[in-house]
Amino acid sequence: MDITKFSAGDAVKQIKNKEISVLELTDSYLNRIKEVDDRVKAFIQVDAEGARARARELDGSTVNELGGGLPIAIKDNINLIGAPTTCASKILKNYRPVYNAHVIEKLIRGDAVFIGKTNLDEFAMGSSTENSSFGPTHNPWDIERVPGGSSGGSAAAIAAREALWAIGSDTGGSIRQPAAFCGVVGLKPTYGLVSRYGLVAFASSLDQIGPITKTVDDSALLLSIIAGHDRRDSTSLDYEIPDYLANPNSNLSDLKVGLPIELFSESFDEGVKVSVKKAIEILEKKGAKIEETSLSSIEYALSTYYIIAPAEASSNLSRYDGVRYGFRSNDNSDIIEMYKDSRSGGFGQEVKRRIMLGTYALSAGYYDAYYGKAQKVRTMIIEDFKSAFSKYDVLISPTTPTTAFKKGEKTSDPLQMYLSDICTIPANLAGIPAISIPCGLSDNLPVGLQIMADHYGEATLFKVAKELEEEIGFSDIPEL
Ligand code: GLN
Repeated sequence: MDITKFSAGDAVKQIKNKEISVLELTDSYLNRIKEVDDRVKAFIQVDAEGARARARELDGSTVNELGGGLPIAIKDNINLIGAPTTCASKILKNYRPVYNAHVIEKLIRGDAVFIGKTNLDEFAMGSSTENSSFGPTHNPWDIERVPGGSSGGSAAAIAAREALWAIGSDTGGSIRQPAAFCGVVGLKPTYGLVSRYGLVAFASSLDQIGPITKTVDDSALLLSIIAGHDRRDSTSLDYEIPDYLANPNSNLSDLKVGLPIELFSESFDEGVKVSVKKAIEILEKKGAKIEETSLSSIEYALSTYYIIAPAEASSNLSRYDGVRYGFRSNDNSDIIEMYKDSRSGGFGQEVKRRIMLGTYALSAGYYDAYYGKAQKVRTMIIEDFKSAFSKYDVLISPTTPTTAFKKGEKTSDPLQMYLSDICTIPANLAGIPAISIPCGLSDNLPVGLQIMADHYGEATLFKVAKELEEEIGFSDIPEL
């Protein structure tokens, strides 16, 4: 039996019953990384020694029953003491964090085994993991294609069975879109449910950390480990985390499902439309009431996001001046030249594009027309969701307009790249939770289905996603 195929639930049971050891499980993932990662390139750094030492330590003690002993991959924009946090950027090369992120502290308390840091688009800006100064990650389903982004390394690692589960971050779709492209489960929690302390900031009002896993139950388990209030993140919610693992009543006959017509464009891939339609029919057969609905403001979500996210990024990224962190240009006549050269040499093209867009949108004379206007539209989007959730328990859409695209296909056309997040961005602007689950294959590439719920609606998402997961029975794994 190949133990890298175990879900978290299976693995925990086996460890508890002493059928496998934590070290055996860890070794099987490390071997798998050795076997496939030169093709997938999911990891920026693998800590084989550290993981083994930790596994041995856990084998000698009583392991936490909620996910303890399981090898986890961490997106490389989250601080983990002992490993560099690069954000896949030259400007942070060799930066070593001096503190752990809140999610890392939680995972340590939960007896996790940290197996390595995963590749991403530089500073989480992108949808293909091609904007990495370490080179791109490849989709395990087809090495010629992108794994999505920006958490492409984390999603590819799970699809290729190089880690049991993983952590990603999602500002406009960076957990759900790669999860969809790689055929795994990705959850963006309610904004504030998981602390952002120790996550390198991209757009602080949108960023959220979440799980990337093989199954819906694994997602619920990992969320229950990482969620919770943290006073070091001023936007962290003081909310009692419910038991996401409680077996919910699986009756869907009272479920009201809205299909936002804005997220079902005729132009989407035929294969995507077919698989999503089948999933919706399953819900209908189970008694759910399905209705088309309109959230007219989400038509403007993409444009709104591409004002707000770059504006926040331009401010957040001003701290990389060559003085305090990472890359510094030498050979400059004065300090202003040093700032300029460090930033132009340290940041990649997409990050510079965002800084320029954001600085422009915030500059005197343009602020009201761009940033101010975008904030107003954001409020309209929030209101539209509020009114939709007064009628529906969940909203469903495809996660992405297409399946995984070919490497290089969109790199020269930023707008085409940005459009891959058209279905995922609205949830970030509204701060609501959303999950992507695999709902079928189209030309042997996975299709993702997105389910959105109102704030704190994670339990509802898990319930609906689990029912669908069981019925769809998506069990395909890529051959590598
Ligand atoms: N692809 C989107 C962007 O480039 C979202 C990224 C993210 O969620 N981190 O901004």
